[in-house]
Amino acid sequence: MKAPDPLDPANDLTTIKVVGLSSLRDTLTHRSHSRDFAFARSDYLRSRVMVVCAVFLALLPFWTLLDWAMLPQASLPYTMWGRVVMAGLLVLVFLLARYSKARLQWARLSAGLVLATPAAFYALVLYTLPPGETSLIGYSFIPYMLVTMLAIFPFTLLESAVLGLVLIGLEAYALHVSGVLMSATGLQAVWLLAALLVIAITANYFQLGLMLRLYREATHDPLTGLLNRGALMRAVEQLMLQEPAPPLALLMMDLDHFKRLNDGHGHAFGDDVLRDFAGLLRRRLGRGDLAARYGGEEFVAVLTGLDKEAAMAVAEDIRRQTEESELVDYEGQPVRYTVSIGVATVQPGEAFHNAVVRADNRLYEAKKTSRNCVVGV
Ligand code: GH3
Ligand code: MG
Ligand code: MG
Repeated sequence: MKAPDPLDPANDLTTIKVVGLSSLRDTLTHRSHSRDFAFARSDYLRSRVMVVCAVFLALLPFWTLLDWAMLPQASLPYTMWGRVVMAGLLVLVFLLARYSKARLQWARLSAGLVLATPAAFYALVLYTLPPGETSLIGYSFIPYMLVTMLAIFPFTLLESAVLGLVLIGLEAYALHVSGVLMSATGLQAVWLLAALLVIAITANYFQLGLMLRLYREATHDPLTGLLNRGALMRAVEQLMLQEPAPPLALLMMDLDHFKRLNDGHGHAFGDDVLRDFAGLLRRRLGRGDLAARYGGEEFVAVLTGLDKEAAMAVAEDIRRQTEESELVDYEGQPVRYTVSIGVATVQPGEAFHNAVVRADNRLYEAKKTSRNCVVGV
């Protein structure tokens, strides 16, 4: 039987899911991102929003001086109040980002608002310009600045496209106010903005793609494509923070006499066996479950929403399917292997680590008795 390719997204059914590398699908929307990556991305978004807010707030007094110098007197009462409201909004957006930890929706909202705030101010300036006044010196670059700023954030392509189109709409309004929208100047301005948007979206594509790839490498075992131990622990922490926390069952699995397999058929074949077992786990576990390579030939699965009996049944299934799985070694000989499994459930309020110790002791029992068996009590 051929070992499944761990990098093939189709095989990645049960782990933290970050499919592909910098593929278009992964960067277009956040639909294929795992919960864990969504948390990581919301952290990147938040930290950038806070920096941008701080920079805008620091520049605000200087920009206000510019208002005095550049805008017609008639606009000033509006724009001064606009500046005060803008400062207040920026502080609120800063706080929203600061306290949106682990909430992707809030982090996205704060990133949208940090761009919308100067855009709204720009719209206010346009709206309050006296009729016939078309001078926008010091302001006309705002839509261009905001479109290029899209490249600062790890936005998905769709997020950037939506924000960018809104900004292009704003520029079209500015051109309309200036009465040049349908002239060569107007069309060139819109065209330039569209080109900048394409550049910003391209930067988003590479930024998010790189982030996904680094994230995947830091959280997954390269041989099997399963989660590594650290990522499993973080994912379990997140599961246990859910309200209400789902019931969790833990399967601690160790391949039997693996050293013999390595010695008898070669290390490379041993690797094939590890991949085969990982594939088997992926196929057997449910979508909300987690599977990790814990160490050499030790694996852990965390099953969600199952009681002890159901978890024992899954473990027994895995044991049986492992026993039935047949590989062919490099000399064409059929080879079978087996697994021993210790099962424990996480009791309400119990630290995950305690359940790990219990499952480990049961695995030890399984090894002591006969191997190729499941021990749950
Ligand atoms: P038991 O049934 O008691 O678990 O015996 P075992 O031989 O499976 O356990 P032991 O701990 O003695 O040996 C584990 C072996 O797994 C030793 C190590 O060389 C091998 N191993 C660890 N990581 C890898 C790997 O990535 N690839 C391969 N091929 N072998 C590995
Ligand atoms: Mg072992
Ligand atoms: Mg072993």
